[in-house]
Amino acid sequence: MIEAASQNNVDSGNDQSFRDSLGIVSKSGKRNWVYPKEPKGRYTTARTVMSAILLIILFGTPFIKVGDHPFLLLNIVDRKFIIFGFPFGPHDFFLFGLMMITTIVFVFLFTAVYGRLFCGWICPQTVFMESVFRKIDYWLEGDHRAQKRLNESPWTAEKIIKKGAKYILYFAISFIIGNTLLAYIVGVDGLWKIVIDPPSEHVAGLTAMLVFTGIFYWIFIWFREQACILVCPYGRLQGVLLDPNSLVIAYDFVRGEPRGKMKRNQERALGDCIDCKECVVVCPTGIDIRNGTQLECVNCTACIDACDTVMEKIKKPRGLIRYDSIKGIKERTRKIFTTRVIGYSVVQVVLLTILTYLLATRSEIDTTVFRTPGMFYQDQPHDKVSNLYDIKVLNKTFDAQHVELKLLKGEGDIKMIGDDITVLPQESAQAKMFIFMDKDHVKKMNTPVEVGVYANGKEVQRISTSFLGPVEKKEKKEEHK
Ligand code: SF4
Ligand code: SF4
Repeated sequence: MIEAASQNNVDSGNDQSFRDSLGIVSKSGKRNWVYPKEPKGRYTTARTVMSAILLIILFGTPFIKVGDHPFLLLNIVDRKFIIFGFPFGPHDFFLFGLMMITTIVFVFLFTAVYGRLFCGWICPQTVFMESVFRKIDYWLEGDHRAQKRLNESPWTAEKIIKKGAKYILYFAISFIIGNTLLAYIVGVDGLWKIVIDPPSEHVAGLTAMLVFTGIFYWIFIWFREQACILVCPYGRLQGVLLDPNSLVIAYDFVRGEPRGKMKRNQERALGDCIDCKECVVVCPTGIDIRNGTQLECVNCTACIDACDTVMEKIKKPRGLIRYDSIKGIKERTRKIFTTRVIGYSVVQVVLLTILTYLLATRSEIDTTVFRTPGMFYQDQPHDKVSNLYDIKVLNKTFDAQHVELKLLKGEGDIKMIGDDITVLPQESAQAKMFIFMDKDHVKKMNTPVEVGVYANGKEVQRISTSFLGPVEKKEKKEEHK
């Protein structure tokens, strides 16, 4: 990607010195606070609508229930997860591992084709920063110039009111975001308990609530675009995930260069870029997209809207800055199915197939039956012989399960030791049982048997195991006779 961007710069005639510094850091090493001009245009409108939908989903999902249980629960503390209404637990770690790998490959594939589309349209950081908090700034403090003036002015009554209102609003929204995050972890019922019960009963929950609120407040009031530029690992991986065919927000240097101011009543021999810098002043990460694709670009589309507005004014076609690939700009063609994309797609399909199979065949009750280690067989009265077995039952459902075992293959009986097995939701239970057989029915040293597992009266599993018997002794006795 950097290679592609460099090519962009070579072709556009720019130097590479912009790569030696960050737009958000001054020469003295201090932070350059970015005051972007409010973007307006079709992409901004579309992104605002998209953000509204995403925010409704984000804040609404914890309230969705399937039966009595959350639709989505990510309780990392107790290692309980509900995804699309299905419970998962630590026993499903291999599924989580596979889901994680599938997601990573999907991110690689998506980025190779669509670049940072996710950053601009879906990432919660961009959605909150650009569509919620920055809109509050414009609403309370005015446009970018007014904001700068206010920040640099002494503390007057007007500044105290504006800043006070802003801090209260930022804190209130951060509190809602923090509580929503907590609702994803403990569920809305759990969150409600934290709210209404005495604080002493939920010290950990209340601490989490305050810590989450504090972190979000700090990110949005102060850290802002630095989260994308300095911290986000996805942003930092762009250099290896993108290639010249990936879709990016790009300046069409072929059409735009050589740039130059527009002069009235003069024949224009230059490119379409009139060097008005409107694309720069709207950029929330403080970069000039005309330098080429850069790590700091979060694909927010503000520069597209700004430049389109300029193009309309000077009666030129829109799209001097647009979604395109570097190859698309240079050669006017864009190849989607590159070797890399095909390779990622194949791996993705294979992983998705395995994951779908494992999810579709995932049992709700998982039972293991093993002969007790170190035990052989036991002679019993009435010419019978028995084997002792260890049973372990894992209940992955939301309901308590009464589990019974029946011998399906093999002439004999099952006798449980102790009470019947009842397994609480998302818990496991252990038990022991004997299988009794008539010695006459034990034809081999190792007789295969099949045990049926019934949960609340319904057959849920069949388990094959073996029964050890005294056949060799019997045979030897018969030989002796
Ligand atoms: S907004 Fe368009 S015309 Fe103005 S400087 Fe940027 S690319 Fe050039
Ligand atoms: S360069 Fe354009 S798309 Fe990228 S962050 Fe700046 S304004 Fe947004």
